[in-house]
Amino acid sequence: MIAAYSRAPASGVRIRTFLTITAAVLTDCLTAIPRHMTDRMFLVNDAEAYWRGWQIIKIHGGLGRRYRDPAFDTLAACSQCAGAGQGIEDMPCITCFGTGRLYNESNERLEGGVS
Ligand SMILES: [Zn+2]
Repeated sequence: MIAAYSRAPASGVRIRTFLTITAAVLTDCLTAIPRHMTDRMFLVNDAEAYWRGWQIIKIHGGLGRRYRDPAFDTLAACSQCAGAGQGIEDMPCITCFGTGRLYNESNERLEGGVS
């Protein structure tokens, strides 16, 4: 009865298991190399972005970075001048002072925010 539980798997199963584990380890090692290299390459930039409170978005499979200030969520195009910043007779828009943007001082995300 004990012999039924202690039987070793067939050699074909052991070889397949060994090859599966070896392939998984090699794949993990090979994908980790460029990831670690780019993490080191962007270390200073990521630290500054973290310090400023920016979002860090890894692009191209982690080989590139995109940084974004969440403060842009509080901006929206001026509805008076449609974001152009110009009012009547090429004068600066009175509502947005010629910037073409409105800023929500309560830091809430505006509809149609600039991204
Ligand atoms: Zn305006």
